[in-house]
Amino acid sequence: MQNCIFCKIARGEIPSEKVYEDDMTLAFKDISPKAPIHIIVIPKKHVANIIQASKWPDIINTVVNAVGETAKIMGVDKSGFRVVSNTGKDGGQSVDHFHFHVLAGKIFDEDFG
Ligand code: 5GP
Ligand code: ZN
Repeated sequence: MQNCIFCKIARGEIPSEKVYEDDMTLAFKDISPKAPIHIIVIPKKHVANIIQASKWPDIINTVVNAVGETAKIMGVDKSGFRVVSNTGKDGGQSVDHFHFHVLAGKIFDEDFG
């Protein structure tokens, strides 16, 4: 999509600190980290949110795989991490391109705020 920030990152038009990449997905450091490790994992194809993404099983599979690869690369696959997908207005989604937040490097409690 022409004016989507994450599509621009996927196309290389906006620079990012890449952590993992394959044909269908990209993982990069969040510009405004909310944890010591905060990575955004996206499908390169534009889909607006997790509901749209669920119509594309290949996207779900490859993005979940990319979350695992990202956790390994960041060295938190054993210690643990949190995965979040904000969805819609009430969910706090600010970029309408489906993504997972991978958060790690601290101990999270059960309060989701
Ligand atoms: P959301 O609020 O949609 O769940 O998450 C969007 C995330 O994208 C936010 O955590 C925000 O900091 C991050 N973000 C927004 N613009 C950019 C950017 O240009 N580069 C990077 N690396 N992260 C961005
Ligand atoms: Zn997009």
